[in-house]
Amino acid sequence: MKIKSVSAVYPNYRHTVPSWRTHLWQIVIRVETSTGQIGWGYGGGGKAAVEIVNGHFAEILVGKSFDSVSDISDLWDFLYTASIPYGRKGIAIMALSGVDLALFDALGKAEMKPVAKLINASTKDRMRCYATGPDTDYYAELGFTAQKFPFQWQGDESEAAGVAMAEKARSVFGKDAEVMFDVYMTWNSEITLRMHEALKHVGIHWYEDILTPDDLEELGELRIMSSATRIGTSTTYLSLRRNFQIT
Ligand SMILES: [Mg+2]
Repeated sequence: MKIKSVSAVYPNYRHTVPSWRTHLWQIVIRVETSTGQIGWGYGGGGKAAVEIVNGHFAEILVGKSFDSVSDISDLWDFLYTASIPYGRKGIAIMALSGVDLALFDALGKAEMKPVAKLINASTKDRMRCYATGPDTDYYAELGFTAQKFPFQWQGDESEAAGVAMAEKARSVFGKDAEVMFDVYMTWNSEITLRMHEALKHVGIHWYEDILTPDDLEELGELRIMSSATRIGTSTTYLSLRRNFQIT
């Protein structure tokens, strides 16, 4: 099938929840195909991303064919390459992700399959979720056994606060709990290793966004120091295994 039209709008929000995304809130993307499917996607980037979709991506996508997940992957590469002069990250990628989702939605509708089945035929009936936030007791009431703490470094006093939070989560959720920290680029190698030592007895599943995504050198050093097992591609997502062992 061919792409007939692509358009994006920035909804007129009456209310947005407090978040780092508030200033670049979600946009909605609509893709129409030659076979009559309408795919919907959501992306970040606010009004700037709307401009990228309507002023650039739409123009170069109309007329392109896609009939498989791999075709969508090729279209992702095509848009990425086309937006390199102003893109590579940030708003351009947020816009691209919304288009990507809309293409998947359209393909799922054309194939009459949930998108999860398009990607992987052996999907699970259930999957474990984690709650993000500070309210351990509330998440336990809701049935969660995994929690990610937003945890920005405020100075030395943060160490004890972080340990107390993690210990509480471990004691409330039990031995199978997964406890994570999203530190939003407020740590560095030194703090990371220090916190890892302080939290060893709790066992942290991952530390997220330790450094800025551009801090590749320090991230590399940290990776060597910690024998980290995985580092994400777009953000400094770093998992330290409990005793710095490679698994
Ligand atoms: Mg995060």
